[in-house]
Amino acid sequence: MTVGMENLNPQNDPCLWPIKITDVDRTDIVLKGPIRVKVDLVDLFPVNDNARRFSEYHNNKILVNDAKLDRRWMIYLQTKDAVYCFPCRIFGPENTKIGSSEGACDWKHLRDYLKSHESSRQHKDCMLKWINLENGLKSCSTIDSLAQSQFEQEKQRWGDILERLLAL
Ligand SMILES: [Zn+2]
Repeated sequence: MTVGMENLNPQNDPCLWPIKITDVDRTDIVLKGPIRVKVDLVDLFPVNDNARRFSEYHNNKILVNDAKLDRRWMIYLQTKDAVYCFPCRIFGPENTKIGSSEGACDWKHLRDYLKSHESSRQHKDCMLKWINLENGLKSCSTIDSLAQSQFEQEKQRWGDILERLLAL
């Protein structure tokens, strides 16, 4: 890891994903969430033959009112020096560079490429599948933790009853 860069989710590196992603893999990957790289020093990104490099500028989509929208779906891997689309990579067919194991690295045209990718039907479908699966998994874990806390309360209640009976 280069100084100044922090991998915020190292256990979910797309390079470690299986070539053929099964439903079990998909669930595991979505639970871990997309790898995010926190950029402190952009000067540390590799420079290509055209003296261009990935810029942190692309981490956000700029809206018409100049507000920034985090492109949570986009993954930049310094080791591959390429960007990937998290949902398209795990839900879509490998028919786009950004949604395949190859990744996109045409830095000169990246701005337009990302804009066109995020407005494509295929990307939107994959985003929807990702959000639905993520929300489903979150509600499952919420139900699990509610059940656990009810179980703990019940255990405490029976413990109290037992204590009172033994005190008689
Ligand atoms: Zn996509």
